[in-house]
Amino acid sequence: MAKDFLAGTKDRYDVVVIGSGLAGLTGANVLAKQGYSVLLLEHHYQLGGMATWFKRKGGHIFDISLHGFPVGMKKSCRKYWTNEIAESIVQLEGIRFENPQFSLRTSFTRQDFTRIITEDFGIPFETVDAFFAHARSMNFYDDQSKTTREMFEEFFPGRTDVQRLLMEPITYANGSTLDDPAITYGIVFSNFMSKGVFTFRGGTDKLVQQMQAELEANGVDIRIRSLVEEIEVTPDRRASAVVVNGKRIECGAILSNANIKSTILRLVGEDHFAPEFVEETKAVRLNNSSCQVYIALKPGMSFDDSCGDLLFHSEHTGFDVDAMLSKNVSSRTFSFYYPQTRPGSDRWLIVSSTNANYSDWAHLSDEQYEADKKDLCETTLDCLEQYVPGIREKADWVEASTPRTFQHYTRHLQGASFGTKFEGLKVSQTLPEQIGGLFHAGSVGIIMSGWLGAVNYGVITSNEVDKYLTPAAATV
Ligand SMILES: Cc1cc2nc3c(=O)[nH]c(=O)nc-3n(C[C@H](O)[C@H](O)[C@H](O)COP(=O)(O)OP(=O)(O)OC[C@H]3O[C@@H](n4cnc5c(N)ncnc54)[C@H](O)[C@@H]3O)c2cc1C
Repeated sequence: MAKDFLAGTKDRYDVVVIGSGLAGLTGANVLAKQGYSVLLLEHHYQLGGMATWFKRKGGHIFDISLHGFPVGMKKSCRKYWTNEIAESIVQLEGIRFENPQFSLRTSFTRQDFTRIITEDFGIPFETVDAFFAHARSMNFYDDQSKTTREMFEEFFPGRTDVQRLLMEPITYANGSTLDDPAITYGIVFSNFMSKGVFTFRGGTDKLVQQMQAELEANGVDIRIRSLVEEIEVTPDRRASAVVVNGKRIECGAILSNANIKSTILRLVGEDHFAPEFVEETKAVRLNNSSCQVYIALKPGMSFDDSCGDLLFHSEHTGFDVDAMLSKNVSSRTFSFYYPQTRPGSDRWLIVSSTNANYSDWAHLSDEQYEADKKDLCETTLDCLEQYVPGIREKADWVEASTPRTFQHYTRHLQGASFGTKFEGLKVSQTLPEQIGGLFHAGSVGIIMSGWLGAVNYGVITSNEVDKYLTPAAATV
């Protein structure tokens, strides 16, 4: 008989959290610490959402989205998770760019970027300083009509090299483009520039295990392989229950970490919303997806530490987002994982990531799909050969993932890696005005994406859930 993953659940919880991405996990933890009974439902067999990993023969462990995040993650983890988690967050110092316009290394801090843009690119210090001050001063309530392209032209007119240095890593980090609102760039860029790029020592598996232990200690009822099929709404438009694996469970409030469009259009259904809100939801653009190639070296093999930690490689002249998304890959970000990523191991791994269009992969026949994945692996190895000579002989395991893979495991429409474009944030934030007690947290609006954005949005939303359940409640 099939295992009942919901055996022993209660009939009712204060809060049901749908999805265990970093936003769902954090929201569940904050609410449980406030004393609410919380049920966390995850359709996959593993917690973490896109903050995930997989194991392969030979003891290899691949991280999917552990490439780098801003220092703010340390503070958020200390405050909303544990000191132990915060203490494992360490800086990556070897950031490298290789493209037809420049070849350089940086610690990815404001100080180092200022040095590079003034000394190597010949821009006056006053201009660079003014740009950083401008990016830093941007906030959510600013004029949102100015695009990143316009902002760059204001400070660095015609300087495609400077624009590329400033933009390329952020496009990789959250899928934003020159045509997105400048504020989405300013906030994310300034977050990184405050201290550089950080990672979690021990790997994503260790992080998620520590988070799970903390959730359990705080009394969260965690259920994996539990797919929420429906959110029930009362006639007076209040979220009242979920249907999960065919079972109905009542609740006082719901925090959905599922994709915002799926939450509204699929789990609840259009009929329960004002028609204008449905239109607004449908108009939300999803962000792009990703392809990755995972490469593990044979025991005893290694690569030189001159590879750096993160290498932004491109064969394309100039920053061109269409080229970055193209199936005909000319840009790759390589993450080099040294043994110290998982202390005590002797593992040398490389993950190549490229931004990708779902439409390029969605409708291929099974045969073509397999052939194209193989081609992706081969062209990635060809490219990597210049940084790790003899990579084909050194490699023990090579495997690719595509937008279809991300869609399958996280149920994000079109395998969107970074949620939605900016307009998704408003829909996410105003959801509770449509249906009382229904909240959303997760990658939306570019700003609230990535590990840090997802964690922080989980905190912000759980505070709203708290206010809804206990109107006089103090804020977190
Ligand atoms: C290839 C790649 C590389 C990345 N690299 C980085 C990086 O280096 N740094 C960084 O900061 N960010 C990175 N990101 C982005 C980052 O991983 C995500 O923004 C973040 O993890 C998303 O968290 P989330 O809370 O929005 O939810 P998600 O991680 O998207 O999780 C949502 C969860 O909800 C579950 N779910 C959905 N529907 C249901 C349902 N109906 N019932 C039950 N469960 C459901 C899903 O299974 C999933 O577990 C990367 C993303 C990708 C794809």
